[in-house]
Amino acid sequence: MSISLNNISHSYGQQKALIDVDLQLQAGEIVALLGPSGCGKTTLLRLIAGLEPLQQGDISIAGLAMAVASEGLQTPPEKRGIGMMFQDYALFPHMTVGKNLEYGLAKHHDVDERRAWLQQAMDKMGLKDMWDRYPHTLSGGQQQRVALLRALAPKPCIMLLDEPFSALDEHLRQQVREDTLDLLKSIGASAVMVTHDPLEALFMADKVVVMDHGHIVQQGAPHEIYASPASAFVAALFGPSNQFELQVVEQGLVTPFGNIKQHQLADDTNCKVIVRAKDVRLHQLEAPGLVAAEVISVHPMGNETHFRLRLPGAQQVFQARVRDHWQAQAGATVWVEVPNDAAFVFAA
Ligand code: ADP
Ligand code: MG
Repeated sequence: MSISLNNISHSYGQQKALIDVDLQLQAGEIVALLGPSGCGKTTLLRLIAGLEPLQQGDISIAGLAMAVASEGLQTPPEKRGIGMMFQDYALFPHMTVGKNLEYGLAKHHDVDERRAWLQQAMDKMGLKDMWDRYPHTLSGGQQQRVALLRALAPKPCIMLLDEPFSALDEHLRQQVREDTLDLLKSIGASAVMVTHDPLEALFMADKVVVMDHGHIVQQGAPHEIYASPASAFVAALFGPSNQFELQVVEQGLVTPFGNIKQHQLADDTNCKVIVRAKDVRLHQLEAPGLVAAEVISVHPMGNETHFRLRLPGAQQVFQARVRDHWQAQAGATVWVEVPNDAAFVFAA
């Protein structure tokens, strides 16, 4: 079902948690809210769920008003048809896994059909034969997956997920992400998922919404957010990056890694330049246009190698991440190339 959030602001006392947030979800769409801790992600989910009274703006689901602050309209959470899985995904400790899973099913559900669906989903999630176990006999990751299935069991039209995979180790997380995506798509639920992991947002979402200090700073398709960041903040989200504060001089920027032409911004404009570490190219031999850098340290990372470098005239460490396995000694010289389109420039 579609969700429409209009002009939403929210405060806790003096603390502003959300400021003028507008967000539209189409039916069946998966949206990831991405942003640092404290930027208002959980607050936004709680408002959609109806767990927090709406102070400003309005929320509708499938075209029906659920909350309108100016009219004092506030539909209770249980009447919104929303499934939720929050960080504290507590299962009922005195109930078996099966009882936990069936807890949310109401009279109108075809319980046999849902039970069969749950059994199948449990197998898929690696929870085979755990129906009669108690939560305390499950690992944290298993409990988390049970909580996810409990939320999905009533086939909600809308699913809200608050950092649902945070307690899982990396390997399991990837698996559970994929399973969750499949389950959400198979029931056709719209979903709003909170994450502070940019790669998880790119992987899961049809639309990524980047938040900072209570504002939505950019929203769009995953590739759009990644390839066309609207600010230095967004550009720097996806892995290690280098940031420089510079001034435009004679339609260009003089950076420690070379000169960049800059026709968009007027001379004297202060700007931020972001270069992602993985966009930096390193060479072992000198060539025209390359800048010599001193190796501070080299860190093998499997199929990539991370370099910490010192560029002439630069205070900060310059980071580069190259594919393949590279060996270089501290103190050695390597040659840095930053392709023109790898430098994101923003007026400060
Ligand atoms: P996120 O989920 O992005 O980490 P939250 O929505 O939990 O952010 O919090 C946004 C801001 O609101 C933070 O500054 C947080 O400290 C504050 N906040 C959240 N919940 C409460 C609350 N119940 N009482 C007071 N302040 C709160
Ligand atoms: Mg949160």
